[in-house]
Amino acid sequence: MLQDLTGIGTALAAYLGLVAIVCWAAMIFWTFRDMRARSRDMLAQILMAVLVALLTIPGLLIYLFLRPRETLAEAYERSLEEEALLQEIEDKPVCPGCKQRVREDWLACPHCHTRLRKPCSRCGRTLELSWDICPYCTTATAQYAGPETTSVEPARETAAAPDTWTAPASAEIPRTRSARRAAAAAQAVEFVDGEEG
Ligand SMILES: [Zn+2]
Ligand SMILES: [Zn+2]
Repeated sequence: MLQDLTGIGTALAAYLGLVAIVCWAAMIFWTFRDMRARSRDMLAQILMAVLVALLTIPGLLIYLFLRPRETLAEAYERSLEEEALLQEIEDKPVCPGCKQRVREDWLACPHCHTRLRKPCSRCGRTLELSWDICPYCTTATAQYAGPETTSVEPARETAAAPDTWTAPASAEIPRTRSARRAAAAAQAVEFVDGEEG
């Protein structure tokens, strides 16, 4: 009878011991894996696993206090979000004159009156000042020279064949004297270019 009890006690102790060992091993494994998700440092991963292996449950508590707050995946995701946010801010166009935020389709800066873009003389879409051809309707456009010359019909078109140049249609003739002068100057430059080529 007493031997039976001793046998049961031994079996129970063995069972509990086995459970404890499995729990201990699982705790170490979990710590190692959790640390690996939070740090690329191999030494830290092993150190934390050893800490839990030596101190068991208190070790696990210490690990939970000390572990990095973010997993690597979370940190990566956050950095992506931050980058996207930064990109969004950088992509917003600013006025070259006063550095104020301006809109993509504005022709001039409302804050400092800097000319930002020019309208196409044919289709009316806004173009970069440096463009000499409209990408939408392929109309050649004048390089921007001043507020009055934005409606000037391009001189570039005529440069290709100076001999066959004809006066632009009446609608395309520059409206102001200074605009006409600017256009004439542009043509003169273009003709010189043509002779060189
Ligand atoms: Zn401005
Ligand atoms: Zn156009």
